[in-house]
Amino acid sequence: MELLKQRILKDGKSLPGGILKVDNFINHQLDSVLMYQCAEEFVRLFAAQGVTKILTVEASGIAPAVLAGYLAKVPVVFAKKATPKTMDRHYVAKVHSFTKDRDYDILVSKEYLKAGDRILFIDDFLACGNAALGMADLCAQAGATLIGMGFLVEKAFQGGRDKIAARLPGVPVESLAIVTALGDGKIELA
Ligand code: 5GP
Repeated sequence: MELLKQRILKDGKSLPGGILKVDNFINHQLDSVLMYQCAEEFVRLFAAQGVTKILTVEASGIAPAVLAGYLAKVPVVFAKKATPKTMDRHYVAKVHSFTKDRDYDILVSKEYLKAGDRILFIDDFLACGNAALGMADLCAQAGATLIGMGFLVEKAFQGGRDKIAARLPGVPVESLAIVTALGDGKIELA
Protein backbone atom coordinates (compact mmCIF):
# COMPACT_ATOMS: atom_id res chain seq x y z
CA MET A 1 0.00 0.00 0.00
CA GLU A 2 1.72 3.08 -1.32
CA LEU A 3 0.70 5.54 1.44
CA LEU A 4 2.01 3.27 4.18
CA LYS A 5 5.23 2.59 2.29
CA GLN A 6 5.89 6.31 1.84
CA ARG A 7 5.25 6.93 5.53
CA ILE A 8 7.66 4.15 6.56
CA LEU A 9 10.35 5.68 4.33
CA LYS A 10 9.65 9.16 5.72
CA ASP A 11 9.25 8.44 9.46
CA GLY A 12 10.44 4.87 10.11
CA LYS A 13 13.78 4.30 11.81
CA SER A 14 15.96 1.27 11.40
CA LEU A 15 17.28 0.17 14.82
CA PRO A 16 19.99 -2.40 15.57
CA GLY A 17 18.83 -6.04 15.62
CA GLY A 18 16.46 -5.80 12.68
CA ILE A 19 13.88 -3.61 14.44
CA LEU A 20 11.85 -1.03 12.58
CA LYS A 21 10.75 1.85 14.81
CA VAL A 22 7.44 3.34 13.70
CA ASP A 23 6.44 5.09 16.94
CA ASN A 24 5.49 8.17 15.00
CA PHE A 25 2.38 6.63 13.39
CA ILE A 26 1.77 3.01 14.57
CA ASN A 27 3.34 2.08 17.90
CA HIS A 28 3.00 5.16 20.11
CA GLN A 29 1.51 8.13 18.30
CA LEU A 30 -1.18 6.85 15.93
CA ASP A 31 -1.95 8.37 12.56
CA SER A 32 -5.69 7.75 12.70
CA VAL A 33 -6.27 8.67 9.05
CA LEU A 34 -3.52 6.33 7.82
CA MET A 35 -4.77 3.55 10.15
CA TYR A 36 -8.28 4.00 8.71
CA GLN A 37 -6.91 3.73 5.17
CA CYS A 38 -5.02 0.57 6.16
CA ALA A 39 -8.23 -0.85 7.66
CA GLU A 40 -10.07 -0.13 4.40
CA GLU A 41 -7.41 -2.08 2.56
CA PHE A 42 -7.72 -5.06 4.93
CA VAL A 43 -11.50 -5.10 4.51
CA ARG A 44 -11.10 -4.95 0.71
CA LEU A 45 -8.53 -7.77 0.69
CA PHE A 46 -10.57 -10.12 2.87
CA ALA A 47 -14.13 -9.05 1.91
CA ALA A 48 -14.86 -12.29 0.05
CA GLN A 49 -13.99 -14.54 3.00
CA GLY A 50 -17.11 -14.01 5.13
CA VAL A 51 -15.39 -12.69 8.27
CA THR A 52 -17.52 -12.79 11.43
CA LYS A 53 -14.92 -11.49 13.90
CA ILE A 54 -11.55 -9.74 13.91
CA LEU A 55 -8.91 -10.91 16.31
CA THR A 56 -5.78 -9.02 17.31
CA VAL A 57 -3.36 -8.88 20.20
CA GLU A 58 -2.74 -5.96 22.55
CA ALA A 59 -1.57 -3.34 22.15
CA SER A 60 -0.54 -2.12 18.71
CA GLY A 61 -2.84 -4.35 16.66
CA ILE A 62 -5.93 -2.83 18.27
CA ALA A 63 -6.04 0.41 16.24
CA PRO A 64 -6.12 -1.10 12.74
CA ALA A 65 -8.26 -4.02 13.98
CA VAL A 66 -10.99 -1.86 15.51
CA LEU A 67 -11.15 0.34 12.41
CA ALA A 68 -11.45 -2.75 10.20
CA GLY A 69 -14.13 -4.09 12.54
CA TYR A 70 -16.02 -0.78 12.28
CA LEU A 71 -15.89 -0.95 8.47
CA ALA A 72 -16.82 -4.63 8.23
CA LYS A 73 -19.45 -4.26 11.00
CA VAL A 74 -18.07 -7.18 13.00
CA PRO A 75 -16.84 -7.41 16.61
CA VAL A 76 -13.15 -7.10 17.43
CA VAL A 77 -11.45 -9.17 20.12
CA PHE A 78 -7.96 -8.49 21.38
CA ALA A 79 -5.94 -11.22 23.05
CA LYS A 80 -4.50 -10.16 26.40
CA LYS A 81 -0.95 -10.63 27.56
CA ALA A 82 -1.83 -10.89 31.28
CA THR A 83 -4.68 -12.80 32.95
CA PRO A 84 -7.27 -10.38 34.32
CA LYS A 85 -8.76 -11.41 37.68
CA THR A 86 -12.19 -11.19 36.08
CA MET A 87 -11.45 -13.79 33.37
CA ASP A 88 -12.15 -17.32 34.57
CA ARG A 89 -12.40 -19.48 31.42
CA HIS A 90 -9.92 -18.76 28.68
CA TYR A 91 -7.76 -20.24 25.94
CA VAL A 92 -4.04 -19.67 26.31
CA ALA A 93 -1.03 -19.98 23.99
CA LYS A 94 2.67 -19.33 24.52
CA VAL A 95 4.47 -16.87 22.23
CA HIS A 96 8.13 -15.98 21.93
CA SER A 97 8.65 -12.24 21.59
CA PHE A 98 11.23 -11.27 19.03
CA THR A 99 11.54 -7.64 20.20
CA LYS A 100 11.75 -8.51 23.94
CA ASP A 101 13.45 -11.91 23.59
CA ARG A 102 11.21 -13.66 26.11
CA ASP A 103 8.15 -15.91 26.19
CA TYR A 104 4.74 -14.63 27.15
CA ASP A 105 1.18 -16.01 27.27
CA ILE A 106 -1.67 -14.69 25.17
CA LEU A 107 -5.21 -15.31 26.33
CA VAL A 108 -8.72 -14.98 25.00
CA SER A 109 -11.86 -15.60 27.04
CA LYS A 110 -13.87 -18.64 25.92
CA GLU A 111 -16.83 -16.27 25.80
CA TYR A 112 -15.40 -14.35 22.83
CA LEU A 113 -13.87 -17.04 20.63
CA LYS A 114 -16.14 -19.87 19.55
CA ALA A 115 -16.58 -22.69 17.05
CA GLY A 116 -18.35 -21.20 14.05
CA ASP A 117 -16.43 -17.90 14.20
CA ARG A 118 -14.66 -16.97 10.95
CA ILE A 119 -11.63 -15.07 12.15
CA LEU A 120 -9.50 -12.46 10.45
CA PHE A 121 -6.31 -11.87 12.45
CA ILE A 122 -4.82 -8.36 12.16
CA ASP A 123 -1.56 -7.17 13.70
CA ASP A 124 0.98 -4.39 13.31
CA PHE A 125 4.04 -6.52 12.42
CA LEU A 126 4.84 -9.91 10.96
CA ALA A 127 8.42 -10.79 11.91
CA CYS A 128 9.18 -14.43 12.84
CA GLY A 129 5.49 -15.33 12.87
CA ASN A 130 5.33 -16.41 16.52
CA ALA A 131 2.50 -14.10 17.56
CA ALA A 132 0.50 -15.13 14.48
CA LEU A 133 0.97 -18.84 15.18
CA GLY A 134 -0.03 -18.29 18.83
CA MET A 135 -3.24 -16.65 17.66
CA ALA A 136 -3.88 -19.53 15.24
CA ASP A 137 -3.41 -21.89 18.19
CA LEU A 138 -6.11 -20.00 20.15
CA CYS A 139 -8.48 -20.25 17.15
CA ALA A 140 -7.80 -24.00 16.87
CA GLN A 141 -8.49 -24.53 20.59
CA ALA A 142 -11.85 -22.80 20.14
CA GLY A 143 -12.68 -24.64 16.91
CA ALA A 144 -12.90 -21.27 15.11
CA THR A 145 -11.91 -20.96 11.43
CA LEU A 146 -8.97 -18.69 10.66
CA ILE A 147 -9.79 -17.20 7.26
CA GLY A 148 -6.77 -14.94 6.88
CA MET A 149 -4.06 -12.80 8.42
CA GLY A 150 -3.37 -9.16 7.68
CA PHE A 151 -0.31 -7.19 8.79
CA LEU A 152 0.56 -3.54 8.44
CA VAL A 153 4.27 -4.30 8.08
CA GLU A 154 6.02 -7.56 7.24
CA LYS A 155 9.78 -7.96 7.70
CA ALA A 156 10.37 -10.44 4.90
CA PHE A 157 13.87 -11.33 6.07
CA GLN A 158 12.64 -12.87 9.35
CA GLY A 159 10.79 -15.79 7.81
CA GLY A 160 7.34 -15.37 9.35
CA ARG A 161 5.47 -15.84 6.09
CA ASP A 162 7.18 -19.19 5.35
CA LYS A 163 6.57 -20.39 8.90
CA ILE A 164 2.86 -19.57 8.61
CA ALA A 165 2.63 -21.22 5.16
CA ALA A 166 4.24 -24.40 6.55
CA ARG A 167 2.04 -24.58 9.65
CA LEU A 168 -1.20 -23.15 8.24
CA PRO A 169 -1.33 -24.10 4.57
CA GLY A 170 -4.12 -22.33 2.70
CA VAL A 171 -4.48 -19.44 5.16
CA PRO A 172 -3.92 -16.24 3.13
CA VAL A 173 -1.39 -13.74 4.50
CA GLU A 174 -1.52 -10.12 3.32
CA SER A 175 0.92 -7.39 4.34
CA LEU A 176 0.38 -3.75 3.40
CA ALA A 177 4.11 -2.98 3.34
CA ILE A 178 6.96 -5.47 3.03
CA VAL A 179 10.40 -4.57 4.35
CA THR A 180 13.09 -6.52 2.51
CA ALA A 181 16.14 -5.15 4.35
CA LEU A 182 16.98 -2.98 7.35
CA GLY A 183 20.35 -1.72 8.39
CA ASP A 184 22.55 1.26 9.14
CA GLY A 185 19.74 3.78 8.95
CA LYS A 186 18.53 2.22 5.69
CA ILE A 187 15.05 0.80 5.00
CA GLU A 188 14.35 -1.20 1.84
CA LEU A 189 10.79 -2.01 0.80
CA ALA A 190 9.41 -4.45 -1.77
P1 5GP B 1 6.64 -12.14 15.47
O1 5GP B 1 5.86 -12.89 16.49
O2 5GP B 1 6.07 -12.21 14.08
O3 5GP B 1 8.11 -12.46 15.52
O4 5GP B 1 6.59 -10.61 15.91
C1 5GP B 1 5.39 -9.93 15.88
C2 5GP B 1 5.24 -8.99 17.03
O5 5GP B 1 6.49 -8.44 17.46
C3 5GP B 1 4.40 -7.81 16.57
O6 5GP B 1 3.13 -7.93 17.18
C4 5GP B 1 5.12 -6.58 17.05
O7 5GP B 1 4.51 -6.12 18.21
C5 5GP B 1 6.52 -7.03 17.40
N1 5GP B 1 7.54 -6.67 16.41
C6 5GP B 1 8.31 -7.53 15.68
N2 5GP B 1 9.20 -6.87 14.94
C7 5GP B 1 9.00 -5.56 15.16
C8 5GP B 1 9.64 -4.37 14.66
O8 5GP B 1 10.58 -4.38 13.86
N3 5GP B 1 9.16 -3.19 15.13
C9 5GP B 1 8.13 -3.11 16.02
N4 5GP B 1 7.73 -1.90 16.39
N5 5GP B 1 7.51 -4.21 16.52
C10 5GP B 1 7.95 -5.43 16.09
